[in-house]
Amino acid sequence: VIEIRNLHKAYGALEVIKGVDITAPRGHVISLIGSSGSGKSTILRCANLLEDSQQGDILFNGEPVKWKGEGLGRHPADAKQVLRIRTNLSMVFQQFNLWAHMTILQNVMEAPVTVLGRDRAEVEHAARGYLDKVGIGDKCDVYPAQLSGGQQQRAAIARALCMEPEALLFDEPTSALDPELEQEVIRVIKDLANEGRTMMLVTHDMSMARDVSDHVVFLHQGLIEEEGAPDALFGAPESERLRGFLSSTM
Ligand code: ATP
Ligand code: MG
Repeated sequence: VIEIRNLHKAYGALEVIKGVDITAPRGHVISLIGSSGSGKSTILRCANLLEDSQQGDILFNGEPVKWKGEGLGRHPADAKQVLRIRTNLSMVFQQFNLWAHMTILQNVMEAPVTVLGRDRAEVEHAARGYLDKVGIGDKCDVYPAQLSGGQQQRAAIARALCMEPEALLFDEPTSALDPELEQEVIRVIKDLANEGRTMMLVTHDMSMARDVSDHVVFLHQGLIEEEGAPDALFGAPESERLRGFLSSTM
């Protein structure tokens, strides 16, 4: 579904992604791990075109993003393509970013109705289904402030699912949560992985990465230092840096 080839990204003179290749085939879960500042969030944001990149290709279902300009002036050329890609790669952030003045149901329904122009009654039916699926079907009519952090994050996941995207991108979905609330969100992510959803997941939670991933990518300073199947990567890490990273996080 998503293919990133030789991606380079700089903020001004600071090059933060230095030539990265990552593929997320349909039905696979790819996890990105690495220390703070290694470029994990930047890669997700480049993948769904929230950020421009200076070099390399991003393909969605085999269709390359069309660019205009070069280097720091490079931007996507086709606004319709950007919208199509962005709505098909729904992102779930560390901070849930729910709209405080809308009920949970309204939060989940908002983008499918206003951005995609879908039929309100059908979206409501789907939204209630997704809220049930993440275990908060009884919270449709309350406001975000009335939910726990774990419930808010599950609402944010329902909101992403309601876009009916081809893939989900998670950026540290559990790191703002207390450990006991973390588990309920991990449960939902595991269910989605078992259903065969395509996902890219940035996480500091090595046990979740090991459980849900088909492929794990360890980043160091904007480059892939090591990657592989979770059992190999966590069970027999080859690089010294990855061994150091794992011993500092486990
Ligand atoms: P963390 O684990 O802390 O979330 P990360 O791996 O997600 O880290 P990124 O957020 O992708 O790291 O950042 C990669 C590098 O890019 C860092 O050196 C960071 O300081 C820099 N960076 C990120 N966003 C910006 C920005 N808007 N302007 C300038 N530099 C930025
Ligand atoms: Mg980050």
